[in-house]
Amino acid sequence: MADAHLFRGPSDLHLHSNHSDGTESPAEVVRQAAAHGIRTMALTDHDRTSGWAEASAQAAQLGMTFLPGMELSAKHEWRSVHVLGYLFDPADAALRAETERIRGDRIGRAERMVRRIGRDHDLTWDDVVAQTTGDATVGRPHIADALVARGIVRDRAAAFDGILHPREGYYEPHYAPDPLTAVGLITNAGGVAIIAHPVTSGRDRMMPVAFIERLIAAGLGGFEIEHRENTARGKQVLRELAAKHDLITTGSSDYHGAGKPNVPGENTTTDAMVARIIGRASGTAPHYP
Ligand code: AMP
Ligand code: FE
Ligand code: FE
Ligand code: ZN
Repeated sequence: MADAHLFRGPSDLHLHSNHSDGTESPAEVVRQAAAHGIRTMALTDHDRTSGWAEASAQAAQLGMTFLPGMELSAKHEWRSVHVLGYLFDPADAALRAETERIRGDRIGRAERMVRRIGRDHDLTWDDVVAQTTGDATVGRPHIADALVARGIVRDRAAAFDGILHPREGYYEPHYAPDPLTAVGLITNAGGVAIIAHPVTSGRDRMMPVAFIERLIAAGLGGFEIEHRENTARGKQVLRELAAKHDLITTGSSDYHGAGKPNVPGENTTTDAMVARIIGRASGTAPHYP
């Protein structure tokens, strides 16, 4: 078991770089976290781990603790479910195969969405490629940035409320595993699985409690409760569920650089909960300064 006393809070365990849909490099994300007083952070890009090395090196330079992480895409019925994984083995073959499958399907899906949008608006796939860094995990945020660059919408939020919203008819889901599979993959790779923003309002609203209890039986570590998109009522339900099953609870910013108003450190995870994550994981050690 890792020594929990080697890290210092405040801790923010959910931030994105331009290796997925954040707008800043991994090193810049770490510098932004430091500038907001964060001393322990996790980089949790969607479906990939390629930003870890750069973030870790910058964290070490700044005397911060770095927890390798990822936000794995999953799907329950029509709901998009995001499962945060911490301290898993990035070489785990089953987890790697699944993230490659998700990322591959995300590209085809984004291309088809752009083709549909292109019938009604002046937007091409090249516009989206121009907004994407390297082989970042492609998502609707990159299409949103292309729409902004073309002057079709004002910002990402406007794109999500309009053209990218499923009701507009351009939307298409991408492949994602069942949450039971997602939790199992992270856990089998020695990681700790935490459901990200489990109680947002709207179409991605909370999974049924009976299904969440199946996830707990499958090894789920806990819930991200303090997150700006969780509803007040939902947080209460989650707190009760976490107490009943003695689960880990976290709080995080879900920082995306300029892509969202979220600010590093706007929510934090307590030292006791960070220690529980570290103590439970066996796939990768935290990177201490
Ligand atoms: P996708 O996985 O491609 O369907 O896109 C979902 C991603 O879009 C999420 O990971 C969020 O980071 C981002 N997102 C969702 N809603 C918004 C919004 N209103 N403004 C900015 N980004 C958003
Ligand atoms: Fe995102
Ligand atoms: Fe998410
Ligand atoms: Zn996120």
